[in-house]
Amino acid sequence: MQTVVLTGGAGFLGSHLTDRLLAEGYAVIIIDNFITGRRENISHLEGNPSVRLFEQDACDPLRIDEPVDYVMHLASPASPPDFARMPFACLRAGSYATHNLLEFAWEKEARFFLASTSEIYGDPPATNHPQTEDFWGNVNTLGRRAVYDEAKRYAETVTMAYHREYGLDIRIVRIFNTYGPRMRNDDGRVVTNFITQALRDEPLTVYGTGAQTRSFCYVSDLVDGIFRLLLSSEKEPVNIGNPSEFTIRELAERVLELTGSKSPLITKPLLYEDDPQQRCPDISKAERVLGWAPRVSLDEGLPHTITDIRAQLKL
Ligand code: UDP
Repeated sequence: MQTVVLTGGAGFLGSHLTDRLLAEGYAVIIIDNFITGRRENISHLEGNPSVRLFEQDACDPLRIDEPVDYVMHLASPASPPDFARMPFACLRAGSYATHNLLEFAWEKEARFFLASTSEIYGDPPATNHPQTEDFWGNVNTLGRRAVYDEAKRYAETVTMAYHREYGLDIRIVRIFNTYGPRMRNDDGRVVTNFITQALRDEPLTVYGTGAQTRSFCYVSDLVDGIFRLLLSSEKEPVNIGNPSEFTIRELAERVLELTGSKSPLITKPLLYEDDPQQRCPDISKAERVLGWAPRVSLDEGLPHTITDIRAQLKL
């Protein structure tokens, strides 16, 4: 049985990835300090002999004596309100933790997998829309989002340096907006906010004009893309996301229709001035090298997310 060390395994994405890895026959060692992860996300795994939990910061040394085949670094706060709430945790997760885990992977002769993000593209201009992997990004180093964007950009750079200098085997995924069950209903992201507000019959808070766009990928599709990339031979970054692009107002309308809510939309100021105006993945590389494409539409994925948030709210 091969062993995967997975940081952030109690988070939204990490816990779904853990389920997939276990189903594929891997043993999983979860590293999580629960600053944003949740015990409920992995409580169904209690007693499973193939999964272990080390409650620790991913920056701290890992005390694992046995052989490890894969090191997957997903741990990081990732919701925009977290950037202001815990800026140093974002910076440390991308920098020290990445370095620590690269060193660990090198010692174990394991494959290293980095969860990077569409945030490394910053606020993409119209000439780079949708975003292809060769776009270098448009990021304000001093902006409020930079604690996340720049940490992830550094994480990619140090990962590539380990590959070039030490021959470490690496994979890098750039994850676009993803949603599904096990998101914290209060994480402050747009999908969770809108669903929570609709279910509570509160106004849906549209930040800015609501004309900005995002492209939302259902979690099972994302995990499938990650798993394929892990087993592929591709060492350059690969975008994984759903290229169906929606304005934030369109998303609000979908949520209202699917919840049957009569909540009004209200406008609020943008959380951060550098809020990307548009974001959409070009996934032709993932299609070509991984044979991957998303299968779950927003209208199919949202109901599962609504059911999960309704349960969290005990409605
Ligand atoms: N947004 C919004 N209302 C909310 C939360 C977010 O209009 O209650 C907007 C936000 O300004 C951004 C988009 O929705 O333009 C996506 O925000 P999210 O926090 O989900 O993630 P991001 O893609 O910005 O990292």
